[in-house]
Formats: sequence, structure tokens, C-alpha cells
Amino acid sequence: MTYTDAHCHLLDKNEFDMAKTAGINQIICNATNPKDWQNVLAVKNVIHAIGIHPWYVSDLPENVISDLENLLVSNIDVHIGEIGLDKCKNDFYKQEELFILQLELAEKLKRPVHVHCVRAWGEMLPILKGHKDLKYLFHGFSGDKNIIHFLSDYNAYFSVNRTSKIPLIPTDRLLIESDAPDGLPSPANLPFLYMQLGVNAEQINQNFQRFLNGR
Ligand SMILES: [Zn+2]
Repeated sequence: MTYTDAHCHLLDKNEFDMAKTAGINQIICNATNPKDWQNVLAVKNVIHAIGIHPWYVSDLPENVISDLENLLVSNIDVHIGEIGLDKCKNDFYKQEELFILQLELAEKLKRPVHVHCVRAWGEMLPILKGHKDLKYLFHGFSGDKNIIHFLSDYNAYFSVNRTSKIPLIPTDRLLIESDAPDGLPSPANLPFLYMQLGVNAEQINQNFQRFLNGR
């Protein structure tokens, strides 16, 4: 059986070795702030995403977006993430500004984006309207059926690690994530999670490959 992990934040090589032994074939590893970018890029045999997470929008270097662009230009397979909006955290205007700048960068460089959205769908959806051509992965999906409907003509995938949202998500758009170390302790726990959630690993794998390699 082939398992995939659509979202984590690990840096420890031992964790990835354990995951491989457990049958996790592909893992997407996200950075959260500029200090994290090189560390994530140094992880071998994973899919990398670098960006500015909405929790880390203060005290950024002045040229942070051009720094991000330069790093992405020299790493052509790297995605943009984790980016997004979070109403439970401070500096919401700054979050919006950086989210939009990173979506624009994703359009310019044609990279998929990995999105965090907490209690901010009302603000996020109007922003997404201006960026319909991107490939999106909404991680830890927290929306309802209206949000899924809104996003139905977007190139959008949804990753979760609990059951409650699975019935809302189209079968061909569902991904599973460990969100380690904050969600599950390790991606090596994923085979058990897949079983608990009752999802079809082959279908999830096909979705994952389509997310990576589709248009
Ligand atoms: Zn995350």
C-alpha cells in the first residue's frame, strides 16, 4: 500500500526514515517563516513548500517577498506554503497583505500554494476570486459545504486528518495529512489514520499525483 502525507513541518531525518519504513512514499514539508526556509529546503526526498505563515507576519526582513522569489527561482520544483489567513492571530491586515503578495508570486512563478485558513473564509474567498488560475491545497480544511461549492471550479484540493469534513470533500479532491508534529506526532502514524478514517489509500495516492503533476 502506498501512503502520502499532504502536509507536515518536520525537519528530522529520522522521522522521514521511519515514515518511509511505514510505507509513506511522498511527503510535503512546509516552512512557516524565512528562518525556516533553508532548513526545509535541506530536507532530502520530500516535496518542499516555502512561504510566510499567517502566524509569523511580524518582524520580517524588509525584502522578504523578493528573498522568497529569489529562493523559488533557484529551486524550480518548490511550492509556496504555508500561507494564509488566521482570525485567531494578530496583525490581520499584515496577514492579508502578505497572503496576496504570495498568491501573486505563485501566479508569476506558476507554483502550487498550500493554504491555512482559520475563521477567515469570509475574507479569503474574495481574495481567491482574483487568483482563480492557481493550484490550491487547503490544509487542515475547516470550511463547510458552501466553501466547497465556491471552490468547485477552482483547481483546489483539501487535506484533513480527521473524519468530520471528509463527507463534504469531493472524492477526487481529498488528501490526507499528518500535520506532524502538531497534528499526528509522525507521518509514520498515517497507515493507522487512513484505516481509522476509512479512506481508500489508492484513491488518495491518485489525488496526490494529480495535485503534483496535473495542470
Ligand atoms: Zn502547517
